[in-house]
Amino acid sequence: TQSNSPITFTESLHITVEKLKKSPVKRNEETGVKRKRDAEDGHIPPLRFRKLHLSVSLLSEQTWCEKKVVYGFLKPQIRRKEKQRIELQTGTSIHLARELEVHDVMPINIQTHEDAVAISLINMLHMIPSLESGQCVREFPVLGIVEGVYLKGIIDELSYNQKGELVLKELKTRKHDSLPGAAQALGHRFQVGLYKLLFDALVRGEVKKEHILEHLKLRASLALGTEVITHAANVGINVVTFGELLDAFLLTLSCSDLPCVDVLQLEYCHQGSSSFIGTVLVQFDESQLRAELRGFLEYWRGLREPKGVDIEEAWKCTSCPYEEICDWRKKQISGP
Ligand code: SF4
Repeated sequence: TQSNSPITFTESLHITVEKLKKSPVKRNEETGVKRKRDAEDGHIPPLRFRKLHLSVSLLSEQTWCEKKVVYGFLKPQIRRKEKQRIELQTGTSIHLARELEVHDVMPINIQTHEDAVAISLINMLHMIPSLESGQCVREFPVLGIVEGVYLKGIIDELSYNQKGELVLKELKTRKHDSLPGAAQALGHRFQVGLYKLLFDALVRGEVKKEHILEHLKLRASLALGTEVITHAANVGINVVTFGELLDAFLLTLSCSDLPCVDVLQLEYCHQGSSSFIGTVLVQFDESQLRAELRGFLEYWRGLREPKGVDIEEAWKCTSCPYEEICDWRKKQISGP
């Protein structure tokens, strides 16, 4: 009967829009957070700056200075200049050369958010058999929900050591021909720890279809772009919609016998000479990592204001591009 008919996508969109119109709670203009209304609707509330997900590299930058990360969003032109400066000094070229050693890089035209996520899924599907057969893979994408937030990142390298352990390696290029100081190393350790959490959750089958669709607000029934469909077919995956690809991805993972990551390793290289500086093994402490992450997520969830560096780390401000405008810095100089 009519009353038992499922609600179509258009109808459900109409209902949602009407509901939002009636809601008395408005979006916070500055942060984009609309917490109360989302909680009432049972939807996942967006994070600050209306973000649906966070990247591992962004969270790692937060370990250096949270205020600096926030200024990066508020003053994008300064951030762009800083990024260009860092790229000139450090190693996109070394990263790319390493990636090209094991596979080709090709441009693919994407049209939608679903296409963008699909590329990551296809790349993972393409690399899983190589990894299962004991080969080294580079630029392996990872994604998943950690502490209730969708995170994504790209692992530099996964390979097996002589003991048969799976080693996750992150390459860091440095301007100075020496290992980093404690403050910088903290962010690097945090980064590889998050990669392990994400990778392990994937191979344990803890990432579910609805997680990806709900957190990123993606449409399973949407047809992928022509170039994405062709790219998938070229690596042996015949799909048309995003949902079909997601099903193929999750099924492949559940049937794979990939192990969890055993060893976390940071490798440092000198940018100027490309020479090897050293390797650092990272101890994985899941409860500490999760506690640190929860602290950072409090900011993204709109539960507190951003923090600048502690007074003992004020030296960080001298090389910060936001030093002139930073209110945290100004308060420190003028005192309480
Ligand atoms: Fe952080 Fe200091 Fe830069 Fe302000 S000036 S954003 S406190 S590093």
